[in-house]
Amino acid sequence: SIVARNLNKWYGTTQVLHDVSLTIPQGERVVVCGPSGSGKSTLVRCFNGLEPYQSGSLVVQGRDLSTHKCVEAVRHEVGMVFQQFNLFPHLTVLENCMLAPVWSNKESASVAEERAMELLRRVRIGDHARKFPGQLSGGQQQRVAIARALCMQPKVMLFDEPTSALDPEMVSEVLDVMIGLADTGMTMICVTHEMGFARAVADRVIFMADGRIQESATPSEFFEHPQTERARQFLGQIL
Ligand code: ATP
Ligand code: MG
Repeated sequence: SIVARNLNKWYGTTQVLHDVSLTIPQGERVVVCGPSGSGKSTLVRCFNGLEPYQSGSLVVQGRDLSTHKCVEAVRHEVGMVFQQFNLFPHLTVLENCMLAPVWSNKESASVAEERAMELLRRVRIGDHARKFPGQLSGGQQQRVAIARALCMQPKVMLFDEPTSALDPEMVSEVLDVMIGLADTGMTMICVTHEMGFARAVADRVIFMADGRIQESATPSEFFEHPQTERARQFLGQIL
C-alpha cells in the first residue's frame, strides 16, 4: 500500500507537488493522468524514493520514506517501468533480467535465470532471451523492461507512460501485458493517457493539474462526469 499525506515538493523555488494526499491499498490499480508538467512523473518517482520531497509523509509498504534508511528496502518492493525502456544495451535480454536479482538480491544464477525465463515467456519474449535489446522492437523492449522489473518480485509496480514512446502498432502488445499483470492482483500505479486501458483495469483515475490532485474517481465517474473544468478540457483534448 501507499499512503501519502500532504506531500509537498519543490524544485528550487518552484513548487511541483502541493499537499498531495492519497491512499492506495494493496491490489488497487490506479491510473494517473493530467496535462504535461502537472507533476505525474514526480509523484510516482517519489513512491519509490527516486525523488525526495520536502514536507508531508509518505509510507510505502509500511515503510516511512522520510527516514532515508528505508529507500533501499522500498525500491526492492516497488518496480518501475519508464517511457524509455532503460535496458542495458550491452547485456542480453536474459542478462538484463538477471542482473538485479543476482547482484542486489544475491540470488544464485540458476534461480534468477529460471524466474527470468518464466517471466520472459509470460511477456512472450522467451524466444528472444539471448538477443540484445537493440535487436528487438520498441514494444518487445518494453515487455522486457516489464519482465525485468517483475524479476525482483515487487509488491507494487509503477508505470510512467510506458507506451508513449512506442509506434502505435506496438502499444496494444504492451497494454495487454499490463492488463495480464493487473489480473494477477498486482498493485499498479500507471501514468498513462491510454483511456481504454484506464477503463479496462483501473479501480480509480487520479487527475492531476498544477501539482495537485484535482479529481480522484472511478473511470466511469471520471470520464462521464468530470467535476472540474480542467478535467473537462483535458478529456476534450485526449478523447
Ligand atoms: P509530462 O506529462 O510532460 O511527463 P508530468 O506531469 O510528468 O509531465 P513532471 O515531469 O512531474 O510532470 O514535472 C512537474 C514539474 O516539475 C514541471 O513544471 C517540470 O518542469 C518540473 N520539473 C521536473 N523535473 C525537474 C527537475 N529535475 N528540475 C527542475 N524542475 C523539474
Ligand atoms: Mg511525466
